[in-house]
Amino acid sequence: MPELPEVETMRRGLLPIVGGRIISAAVPRTSLQPITFRPDRRTVLRALRGRCIHEVTRLGKRVVFNLDGGRRLVLEPRMTGRLFLDVTEPISHVRLILEILLPESEAPASHPPAASLIAAHPAATPGPVRRVVFRDVRGLGVVWLMDERAWQRELGPHKIGPDALDIDASTLRHRLAPRRTAVKVALLDQKAVAGIGNIYASEALHRAKIHPAEPCAQLSHRHWHRLHAAIREVLTEAVALQGSTLTDGTYGTPGNRAGRYQDRHLVYRREGQPCLQCGRSVIQRIVLAQRSTFFCPRCQRRLPRR
Ligand SMILES: [Zn+2]
Repeated sequence: MPELPEVETMRRGLLPIVGGRIISAAVPRTSLQPITFRPDRRTVLRALRGRCIHEVTRLGKRVVFNLDGGRRLVLEPRMTGRLFLDVTEPISHVRLILEILLPESEAPASHPPAASLIAAHPAATPGPVRRVVFRDVRGLGVVWLMDERAWQRELGPHKIGPDALDIDASTLRHRLAPRRTAVKVALLDQKAVAGIGNIYASEALHRAKIHPAEPCAQLSHRHWHRLHAAIREVLTEAVALQGSTLTDGTYGTPGNRAGRYQDRHLVYRREGQPCLQCGRSVIQRIVLAQRSTFFCPRCQRRLPRR
């Protein structure tokens, strides 16, 4: 499931479309169960055509296009959603195709393409048209078109916490420390802090030497500072390496390349293998709140009860 580093990689890969205008928005015919469009597919597709893309941003695990007219297109990959830009190889499970005309081709062309060139390449378009494809194998992703009110209501700060790359240590502590839940489970709560999922929660806790089942209320100031630093380090490295492509292959960059952070995982899906930190224990898998959690019992010991 794409988390902050994967979604940030999608966002960065789509930056070439900023300033462009959506000239077509379409959903291909398919026998697949349709994904969710909000408010509904027809309304979204119709409203997208002709809109300018002012910015491509990210909110937690969502890519957001800021459009003219104060609207936003929110692409939520959920489990297996993925975005491509200008990929020529065939793509399965396509859920949405956007064609975007970049601005230089909208102005009266100072150097119109030679007629002979157009004739020689009848498929060529008069200006640079970029193509964004949203693919989703399991089809749990969501495409939302929102005005400002819907944005505040559905994804405002009361619903989505500060970004895991922006939050400071004391805010993280204040938001999580009073809880009695396991710290690993608390880190996944997007209302508390946005962007962390199953992979990076396990990796950050291992780096911070904190047992994933430790209740938040048991952790000291020192633990929270260490955890905050570990989250930043893990996410920053993972963004630099364009995220983690797991063996299911459902994630890759918009240019259709694999991420490289999976080679740096120290605990995630490494159960039964030696801990690369201490070299003296074996990674274990436990289930917390129905999610697999990976840790080293030697590096990440339970604390004495306070
Ligand atoms: Zn260890």
